[in-house]
Amino acid sequence: RAKAGGKGILHFYEEEMDRQAQARRATELDLRKAIHNEQLAVYFQPLLNLKTLRITTCEALVRWPHPTRGMVSPAEFIPIAEETGLVVELGRQVLRKACAACAAWPNEVRVAVNLSSVQFDRDDVVALVRDTLQATGLAADRLELEITETLLLQDSASILATLETLREMGVRIALDDFGTGYSSLSYLQKFPLQKVKIDRSFVRNLETDLRSVKLLQGVTRLGADLGLAVVVEGVETYAQMKLIDEPGVVTEIQGFLLSPAIPDDQLRILLSRSGAGLLKKVA
Ligand code: C2E
Ligand code: MG
Ligand code: MG
Ligand code: MG
Repeated sequence: RAKAGGKGILHFYEEEMDRQAQARRATELDLRKAIHNEQLAVYFQPLLNLKTLRITTCEALVRWPHPTRGMVSPAEFIPIAEETGLVVELGRQVLRKACAACAAWPNEVRVAVNLSSVQFDRDDVVALVRDTLQATGLAADRLELEITETLLLQDSASILATLETLREMGVRIALDDFGTGYSSLSYLQKFPLQKVKIDRSFVRNLETDLRSVKLLQGVTRLGADLGLAVVVEGVETYAQMKLIDEPGVVTEIQGFLLSPAIPDDQLRILLSRSGAGLLKKVA
């Protein structure tokens, strides 16, 4: 059919690639504008500590309120921001907003901020964190930085030195999305981590598949045995929470069961009610 049309399938393929490249370029320009005008919003998703049944950490998640497309998901624009280097300025703005928000929360609540490996390559993360803590008045031990295996894969001496300096300042480091990448167990030992966040892909089939339960229990126990706080992401049902909590090694859970990411004013209401009552709500 394509041949009969005289153009050939390759032609259509090229047109489709052009179309995608243009859409990407348009997104990049819009994003650049939004960052320049400081229009990106930061939402917060609470993590529930299973030992104390209190909210102990809230993760900052960037949101892009787009004039015509509604709230654009970071899954769509973070990769573009990373490729174009825009993630450096984006990351600076998110860190500042997140630390400023946390400074007004109860003292026992920390904020967790995602850092892209591109920020470590192209920015002075130590200076950024130090300046931001100073500007917002947030104590270093209330900031947690979420990094991914991509960063640790670079395996460079300078990454290790940066993470150690941050650790010495009192900032906590969490390894995000554990189990999705290379999951080299040696990372968990070699780098100064305090927390490991097990990716939500481990949670998906818990209720129907016994092997998933065993796998999750194995990976959480490993983290705990290495002395790390263990978080399980993507907890959507009470039944999942029960299975996750059963071996008693998981420190915190995060997921829609408790709350999605919400604006700071809504989070503060949740924090003011935080405590044993919260679990009754989700149960
Ligand atoms: P992440 O750091 O692993 O964040 C968790 C993601 O899982 C969030 O998606 C959150 O909304 C979603 N999530 C939480 N609980 C559940 C659940 O129960 N079920 C399901 N289906 N999803 C759940 P979000 O906000 O779309 O962010 C996606 C990713 O974008 C983040 O994954 C993170 O890698 C990246 N990201 C977000 N904000 C930033 C940022 O400020 N800087 C950087 N560098 N990356 C960011
Ligand atoms: Mg994260
Ligand atoms: Mg995560
Ligand atoms: Mg994730």
